[in-house]
Amino acid sequence: MYAFTYRKAKDVKDAAAGLAKNADAKLLAGGQSLIAAMKLRLSAPPELIDLGTISELRGIKSDGKNVVIGAMTRHAEVAASTDVKKAIPALAYLASQIGDRMVRNMGTLGGAIAHNDPAADYPAAVVGLGATVETNKRKIDADAFFKGIYETALDPGEIITSVSFPIPKRAAYMKFKQPASRFAMVGVMVADTGKDVRVAVTGAGPCVFRVKEMEQALGKKFAPDSVANIKVPDKGLNSDIHASAEYRAHLVTVMAKRAVEAALK
Ligand SMILES: Cc1cc2nc3c(=O)[nH]c(=O)nc-3n(C[C@H](O)[C@H](O)[C@H](O)COP(=O)(O)OP(=O)(O)OC[C@H]3O[C@@H](n4cnc5c(N)ncnc54)[C@H](O)[C@@H]3O)c2cc1C
Repeated sequence: MYAFTYRKAKDVKDAAAGLAKNADAKLLAGGQSLIAAMKLRLSAPPELIDLGTISELRGIKSDGKNVVIGAMTRHAEVAASTDVKKAIPALAYLASQIGDRMVRNMGTLGGAIAHNDPAADYPAAVVGLGATVETNKRKIDADAFFKGIYETALDPGEIITSVSFPIPKRAAYMKFKQPASRFAMVGVMVADTGKDVRVAVTGAGPCVFRVKEMEQALGKKFAPDSVANIKVPDKGLNSDIHASAEYRAHLVTVMAKRAVEAALK
């Protein structure tokens, strides 16, 4: 790890001012991805601006239509929230499946989606549920937020403040875990919003993506059989020591079918 300076931001404005002053500074949320990258010297920010004590960035609110979760809300808080469990049980379940206890007690929603690891779980929830990402500057639709591997629509100096998840009619998330890290080898969120059906896949490609063919089939008939024979092409999917692209493509169909089954229970 290279040397860096550290400071706690008082509020979002203060954090934004810090980023404006030093373009190479980085925000510190739960540190579960950033600190690991710094230890490996893959990232060397000269300054860390800690969001940890900004209370306006924490908490969960539900108004019957949307569940709004502050960017600094920890995965464990989302998993344990009675509001989330009641309104969007699939989201509470997804959060409960992230990493291990330490990761869930430190990692945050904002950090996870800003980092946009190709195998992260939250991108599937944000896109699958058709959420809106709110920053200190604007609101960004889920479909426009995730741009590519570790890449998002965030501008330099932009800070995620919360994510608003519309409450679906029914939804479920199923993931096939990488057994050591518990990141998603493939994870699929299926959501019946009441107006349409959304299917979002994480872990399989460089970035979360939707499977329109499955969405259309489920829109006609919301049943496991509707997706059982829909295959995604393996071209361009991730291939590594854990799973080939072909295997990941196969898992997309299997996880989508299981997610539909779970959503119907
Ligand atoms: C062993 C291990 C297992 C894991 N398993 C899983 C898993 O199964 N599923 C999964 O999804 N994830 C997993 N993770 C990742 C975990 O969820 C992290 O919490 C997450 O990737 C980063 O969140 P963080 O709050 O720790 O962010 P940090 O590491 O603090 O920050 C990550 C990046 O986001 C930026 N950032 C942070 N907050 C904001 C904000 N509000 N606005 C703009 N930019 C911001 C930072 O500057 C940094 O670039 C795992 C991590 C570890 C170490």
